[in-house]
Amino acid sequence: MWNLCVCLCVFACSLQAMPLSKNNCLDRSKVLLVSFDGFRWDYDRDVDTPHLDQMAVDGVKAPYVTPAFFTMTSPTHFTLLTGKYIENHGVIHNMWFNTSTSEKKPYYQTQFVNEWWDNGSLPIWISAQRQGLRAGSLHFPGTASTYDGETALVSEVEPRLYNYSNETAWRQNIDKIMGVWFEEKDLDFVALYFGEPDSTGHKYGPDSEQRREMVRQVDRTVGYLRASVERNGLSQCLNIIITADHGMTTVLRGGVVNEIVLSKIPGFSFQDLDFHLVDYGPSGLLLPKTGRLEKVYNALKGAHPHLHVYKKEEMPPRLHFAQNDRILPIILWADLGYVINGYIPVQFNKGEHGFDNDDLDMKPFFRAVGPAFRKNFTVEPFETVHIYSLMCHLLGITPEPNDGHLDATRAMLLSSEQPHEKNSVMSRVFIGLGAVAGFLLIVFVVMVTHSVLKHTRKKQRAGSCEKSEGDDKKQTSF
Ligand SMILES: [Zn+2]
Repeated sequence: MWNLCVCLCVFACSLQAMPLSKNNCLDRSKVLLVSFDGFRWDYDRDVDTPHLDQMAVDGVKAPYVTPAFFTMTSPTHFTLLTGKYIENHGVIHNMWFNTSTSEKKPYYQTQFVNEWWDNGSLPIWISAQRQGLRAGSLHFPGTASTYDGETALVSEVEPRLYNYSNETAWRQNIDKIMGVWFEEKDLDFVALYFGEPDSTGHKYGPDSEQRREMVRQVDRTVGYLRASVERNGLSQCLNIIITADHGMTTVLRGGVVNEIVLSKIPGFSFQDLDFHLVDYGPSGLLLPKTGRLEKVYNALKGAHPHLHVYKKEEMPPRLHFAQNDRILPIILWADLGYVINGYIPVQFNKGEHGFDNDDLDMKPFFRAVGPAFRKNFTVEPFETVHIYSLMCHLLGITPEPNDGHLDATRAMLLSSEQPHEKNSVMSRVFIGLGAVAGFLLIVFVVMVTHSVLKHTRKKQRAGSCEKSEGDDKKQTSF
């Protein structure tokens, strides 16, 4: 009986411990979305990137992915988080602006303008939390805002004037996310943002040695990240997606280039505008005064061979950048290498983005690794608007209405079955097998105990018989 009790206790404990243990992935898979801002699809071609290469061997790679248009940081990141084209999620520019007061706020300050972000679309961390999961975001654009009154359960917004390129800080953030956020706090989803190689690409240009060195830093960081996954025992449950918001191209300079300066265009006058958003890379938005739209449009259309001028209602549908009240009546963008200046040239970056998302230079890289992904597999290029559906699938949550579809990324998955369902089934099978094994063990122990007891009693009976026989013999011999 004692043996039976011990066996039952051990079996009960093992059944309890297995499904409750963290990171054994029996319940559901976790997802880490990483963005290295401005990492162009081909940045691994002129630099040794052993860790990114290994990630492709261990998982999935796309030659490139296509971001949304404008190919600008906050808008394209919000596409990653919502699965919507920019016209549908409303974060149409890095800069918040008010056409009535002519106020504008730069990128960092715009992070804190709640109504700019919270305008009807939910980032994946909110949807995940509403469906019972736990989510976090570190420095990802959109983190500072609340959505319908909610924020990510755990979040960090970088301070003003943050040094986005400090490799030590990168590693500390990775340690925090793996060891604390995923391990201790048991988060299911984390969005992690790095501000490089964008800053270096802007400052020195995408073909500079400084950019190549920054790509080496990104590669070391990917190696550190993957080692950290192993160290924290997360490799069996964490699916990692690494991508970016846009690419980068070299800005053409010097006397040979016919720069785009709007004030120099015959027939165009800033006096005809109520509001304008130019001097911000290759794109522009104009609000003509009442009755002057045609005049402004006619002056600009065809005025420069590398300047594209569109009325909002005539925008090419493929760009998905028209159907939103925040988008102004005239939209401008330049060909690769050109930027749009207002009164005088005031832009001095050697690298820029914001161009047509059809241009190869605007396309980011894509890697994915984890238990849900195929190994050593290259997928066809796809639009980043589909990454949201993929992440929802990996988390086992129902997506909000969006413009993407899982079909665009399904080929990269080992199984199209919901990982959550698959894990639940596996969990049940595992527990079932454990129960059967435990039952057989108990039966075995009971049978052995029973047999031993029977044998002992038999021996005792035989002993007492021998004893009386011996006594008899003794008596006889005596
Ligand atoms: Zn960016």
